[in-house]
Amino acid sequence: MQRFPCPFCGLRDEREFSYVGDFGKVRPDTKARVSDAEWAAYLYDQKNPKGQSTEIWVHLPCQEYFKMTRDTVSMDVIDAAPLRKPAQ
Ligand SMILES: [Zn+2]
Repeated sequence: MQRFPCPFCGLRDEREFSYVGDFGKVRPDTKARVSDAEWAAYLYDQKNPKGQSTEIWVHLPCQEYFKMTRDTVSMDVIDAAPLRKPAQ
């Protein structure tokens, strides 16, 4: 069983996490006209690289979203960082 690092809780079982999406994806500007193709690309296209990938994940018990870089071949986690500063 794989263990993922939550930046707020530490190492936890992978079943406690959910993939959210590619890191760095930019939502189309809704003030401008957005075509169906642009929306579809934003919603459904994923990079899905072989090798290093940086993604947004959520740790379900604490509901914190964070950035995780991992190798999709070896399944090694390279880095995990919060998207916000942890509460003091
Ligand atoms: Zn957590």
